[in-house]
Amino acid sequence: MKRIYMDNAATTEMSSAAINAVTEAWKVYGNPSSLHGAGREAFFMLDKAREDVANALGANKNEIYFTSGGSESDNWAIIGAAKAMAKKGKKEIISTAIEHHAVLHTLNALEKEGFTVKLLPVSADGYVTAKQVEEAITENTALVTVMMANNEIGTIQPIAEIGEVCRSKGVLFHTDAVQAVGHIPVDVKALNVDMLSLSGHKFHGPKGVGALYVRKGLRLPNLINGGAQESGRRAGTENLAGICGMAAALKEATENMEANNAKIIPLRDKLINGLTAVERTRLNGGRENRVPNNVSVCFEGIEGESLLLWLDAKGICASSGSACTSGSLDPSHVLLAIGLIHEIAHGSLRLSLSEHTTEEEVDYVLETVPGIVKYLREMSPVWEKIVKEEK
Ligand SMILES: *Cc1c(COP(=O)(O)O)cnc(C)c1O
Repeated sequence: MKRIYMDNAATTEMSSAAINAVTEAWKVYGNPSSLHGAGREAFFMLDKAREDVANALGANKNEIYFTSGGSESDNWAIIGAAKAMAKKGKKEIISTAIEHHAVLHTLNALEKEGFTVKLLPVSADGYVTAKQVEEAITENTALVTVMMANNEIGTIQPIAEIGEVCRSKGVLFHTDAVQAVGHIPVDVKALNVDMLSLSGHKFHGPKGVGALYVRKGLRLPNLINGGAQESGRRAGTENLAGICGMAAALKEATENMEANNAKIIPLRDKLINGLTAVERTRLNGGRENRVPNNVSVCFEGIEGESLLLWLDAKGICASSGSACTSGSLDPSHVLLAIGLIHEIAHGSLRLSLSEHTTEEEVDYVLETVPGIVKYLREMSPVWEKIVKEEK
């Protein structure tokens, strides 16, 4: 059976350009910090990769810090900014209820250390506004962190406007742009951000490598002490192959973004229209300001986990929301935040596409899902109750 992969928000297939870049970089064994020829060869590759990543974001190469991925970038930005601002007596952080756990759990940890965290609610469509942020900021606010694109429901937040508010109030602003970079235009200057997180494996690069953009002039405390790598702020001999793979993937994703999205958006919309045609099914997240590759729906009266197992048996790789919540019985915090009750949030299905997704695959999914939903509903006491109440 051919596998249909529609879980690109969890991770993506490495592109040939990324695999080639990694393969070539493995052979370059010099230490980029060494002064001899072998070291210089590695250093030049590292420097080129940093430049490519910076160019894709409209940043300067000395504003790019390589990390082990999105989670590390989020932790560093948030903890670093919080600690830097605490020295000035500011110990309040503003964020949203729909952030990734890499952000939310970091905020929990800071709360235990005496920081105050305000999580802004989102609309039923899954958006926050710059006005909400503006009203929440006080003179004690150290940092605002709002994700650019949500990993579960695909909503894109008004980052440039929020950044403008933060800048005018003298508050630091971080965005987790892991689901945005390589998928929609991201320009750190236009977005008015001080810090921005990204991760290689979400745009066809390798896993275990990411970056944090830190605006020139902002000095974050060191994440790892040791050598002089990453301007002395994150020590350790660089993951040159991973970094080169990520840079190649990002360059490719940026160059092909428009063409890829022209292909993906109609397929996404066909899926949304086809799935929401199933009775008692809702789309999660608004249709406007939505990343091109995200489809998220809830089918009333079923368990999303059972649906996933059935889809897997039919060769379809999907998700119920975030890879981090699967395995737990709690419904997704994102679906609860958009106002869904537990029973409905449990029936979620996320399909995340890529430029490799074909119309045949979309048609197969649309032929397969409604039948499984119907079958699962026939066995579901929750569905039985819904049908009875309707009469
Ligand atoms: C995947 C993801 C992360 C974590 O990135 P890793 O590289 O897997 O650590 C953080 N934030 C968002 C929005 C994500 O989708």
